[in-house]
Amino acid sequence: MRIEEIEQYAQANNVPIIERDSIEYIQNYIKENNIKTILEIGTAIGYSAIMMASVSPDIKVTTIERDEDRYNKALENIKAMNLEDRITVLGVDALDTNIYDKFDMLFIDAAKSQYINFFEKYKDNVNDNGVIVTDNLHFHGLVDKYDEITSRNVKGIVRKITNYISYLKDNEEYVTEFIDLGDGISITKKNH
Ligand code: SAM
Repeated sequence: MRIEEIEQYAQANNVPIIERDSIEYIQNYIKENNIKTILEIGTAIGYSAIMMASVSPDIKVTTIERDEDRYNKALENIKAMNLEDRITVLGVDALDTNIYDKFDMLFIDAAKSQYINFFEKYKDNVNDNGVIVTDNLHFHGLVDKYDEITSRNVKGIVRKITNYISYLKDNEEYVTEFIDLGDGISITKKNH
């Protein structure tokens, strides 16, 4: 199986996956910072987990997906890419689960209204010199266009993302860099 087939499946079935630019940026970051263990919140169908694990054969990814159909599709894709030894998919709700291992990277890419909760719940699963990466901080350009949004639901999500951005900026325990790439990424590290 080729990675492009997963991209095409995602497009055809409206599965939200990370943009190419963003995942390539994360792949480079993984390579340059010698990241070996990754915890991902929000697997969807395994695309980003596969892309991250593909950086080097000694990388291990644990990824969490609560939607049963996507979880099953992720398992299928990961097997087809021969990565089942290095990618563990947990089919559970990340907010109802406890993980006890520590990782070099936490990648938050699940329900946008819960970003602060994911961060708070999983920040201690990151090694002291590790990094927390979050995707979709522009939310398709809508974060800068709040007044133009008519849907109450979308407004609510945008408010939550804006709160998360402020939470990161004001958090004295951490330092965050915002990368204007793809749908907007943040790179957060402990403030030593
Ligand atoms: N990281 C994936 C990629 O780039 O290939 C895309 C993930 S998609 C944007 C977000 C996924 O998070 C959805 O499939 C959704 O079902 C899942 N999700 C949302 N909230 C979750 C939660 N609390 N626990 C586990 N999965 C969750």
